[in-house]
Amino acid sequence: MNFERIKEKLNILADAAKYDVSCSSSGSKRANKNKGLGDSSGMGICHSYTEDGRCVSLLKILLTNHCIFDCAYCVTRKSNDIKRAAFKVQEVVDLTIAFYRRNYIEGLFLSSGIFKDADTTMERLVQVAKKLREEENFNGYIHLKSIPGASDELMREAGLYADRLSVNIEIPSEKGLKLLAPDKKREDFIKPMEKVKNEIIQYKAEKKLIKSTPIYAPAGQSTQMIIGASGETDAEIMYTSAYYYKQFNMKRVYYSGYIPISYDTRLPSIGTEVPMLRENRLYQTDWLLRFYGFDIRELLNKEYPNLDSDIDPKLSWALRNLHHFPIDINKADKVMLARIPGVGMKSVYKIIQARRFRKLNWEHLKAIGIAMNRSKYFMVCDSNQFERKDRTAAQIKSLILQHSNSKYQKTYNQQLNLFSSIETPIAV
Ligand code: SF4
Repeated sequence: MNFERIKEKLNILADAAKYDVSCSSSGSKRANKNKGLGDSSGMGICHSYTEDGRCVSLLKILLTNHCIFDCAYCVTRKSNDIKRAAFKVQEVVDLTIAFYRRNYIEGLFLSSGIFKDADTTMERLVQVAKKLREEENFNGYIHLKSIPGASDELMREAGLYADRLSVNIEIPSEKGLKLLAPDKKREDFIKPMEKVKNEIIQYKAEKKLIKSTPIYAPAGQSTQMIIGASGETDAEIMYTSAYYYKQFNMKRVYYSGYIPISYDTRLPSIGTEVPMLRENRLYQTDWLLRFYGFDIRELLNKEYPNLDSDIDPKLSWALRNLHHFPIDINKADKVMLARIPGVGMKSVYKIIQARRFRKLNWEHLKAIGIAMNRSKYFMVCDSNQFERKDRTAAQIKSLILQHSNSKYQKTYNQQLNLFSSIETPIAV
């Protein structure tokens, strides 16, 4: 093996893979079998993050950064003048095993540029996973990217070896896709997603009847959208996301703030800040939809197409719906408790549990761990101490922001300062 060349390839192809954030490894239950190598069951997989917050916990590489497509937002696009490289199938297998044995990684995240066509590329990715499982007896985590346009047969095979499959939508709207990635068609993403969804359902059903049926993609499928490259509103992004969750049983949709990498008039110019705060607000919204029982129309709609930068989406919703508050902690049902800003789902369950035995007061709630600085304006409990409940939304917001220590405070303070000369201060 030419180690210098492998090292060079690794540098190029790991660097090219860092823009893909959809590498969470949660959700797999593949246990060690046949005295093999690795075990991705439970929470055996550690995560680490690069400076810009991107997850690199797995061996995260591209098979190649050669690509026949020219997606404007992608560093790997064919018109970009960069160093190119390609791993052989066996090289990726050897690297994975070598890194695993040295305890550097817990699994593999493998993506690729499209060299030649979708099927040829997908076939190589599947070969890597197949060799790891069948020849190396590797039971660690494998996340394979599905190549848009890959055939049903290859998608079926991929799910038999990989824990998770993902195909990236990248651009949230069709008009954005046409503008920035004219070679790609929406159907090219939809088809593999549909296939994966159906295979998961089918294999699960068969497993109920025949125990020896293998598990197909046990960690399900995920996708990623690039944020801030193509001018969509937050509403457009989150409605797209809600559609993919529902339609394809997505485990996760990832939101990746666009990192300006090219001089292209269709894109934000180089030097434009990566929209990390926006990315964070989208994740919070995603969380509210999946775990807090919110409907997307409550959080984003025609009148309210973008999320607030200075407050989180649940607080923003509460301030626009003060008629629902204050909520009585000792009486409200789970759904309404979960709507109180500063009260997370864990706290909701603790509250329900604790109030079986006594009426809860401020001290109990503090001990449960709810964020009193936000929640106190929206609830009542069994305490003489109480917050005035006749404040306006603007007053509550101002009070909360005065005491906020969000890590994003500096970002939105800077943004708010731009408007300070035209805003009337709120009297409290
Ligand atoms: S097909 Fe994928 S790798 Fe190729 S340019 Fe488009 S986004 Fe980049």
